Amino acid sequence: MVTDVDGTLTDARRRLDPRALEVVHRLSDRRIPVLLATGNVLPVALGLHRSLGLSTPIVAENGGLLYWPRDERVERLADPAIARKALAVLRRRRIPVQRLFTDRWRESEVALAPTVPIARVRAALAELPVVVEGTGYAIHLMARGSGKLPALRRALRPYRLAPEDCLVLGDGDNDMGMLAAAGWSVSFPNGSPGARAAADYVTRAKFARGFVEGVRSGSVLRSRV
Ligand SMILES: [Mg+2]
Repeated sequence: MVTDVDGTLTDARRRLDPRALEVVHRLSDRRIPVLLATGNVLPVALGLHRSLGLSTPIVAENGGLLYWPRDERVERLADPAIARKALAVLRRRRIPVQRLFTDRWRESEVALAPTVPIARVRAALAELPVVVEGTGYAIHLMARGSGKLPALRRALRPYRLAPEDCLVLGDGDNDMGMLAAAGWSVSFPNGSPGARAAADYVTRAKFARGFVEGVRSGSVLRSRV
């Protein structure tokens, strides 16, 4: 099972929801691997991973970083120089972008506060080899070719699994690739239009309550994951 964090394991106020955490614990107890795939930085993701008692790889920085717990190795899958160049272009064009506080720990991409329309950022960077993705909580500037899906494919290799074998849950445009590739994918009424369109199933409940409903909807895959 592969899950996004913000908007998926959290409630409308971005607080972790104990009902979602309980489901994660139950899956782990049944030895079903639970992978976190987040746009957040590794230190934040790692804290959550530890507190959830997980021992799976972590997809962090929107797929720019992949953490392998077995040998505590971090793989960088996106070139930060391209993202930084994109940021310089935005600043030169006087687009009032603000980097997230967590960018001080970000190693592979640039994340901006969602204070400017993403379409404006995309238009300004149309000539550059960058992907601009929105999560609802941030706008990510990444080297083209990177994202949660390629990182997830890599993270699943040691399990001899592909996204097609997994249940994937997510709420943002940055989850669309994973949702489209998954064997069974779930989004929520609070998800972005793109995430909802890419998912096999949109829950009735919102946020983490939707997560609980969504995991149940994916029970068909349990024997495979
Ligand atoms: Mg999210």
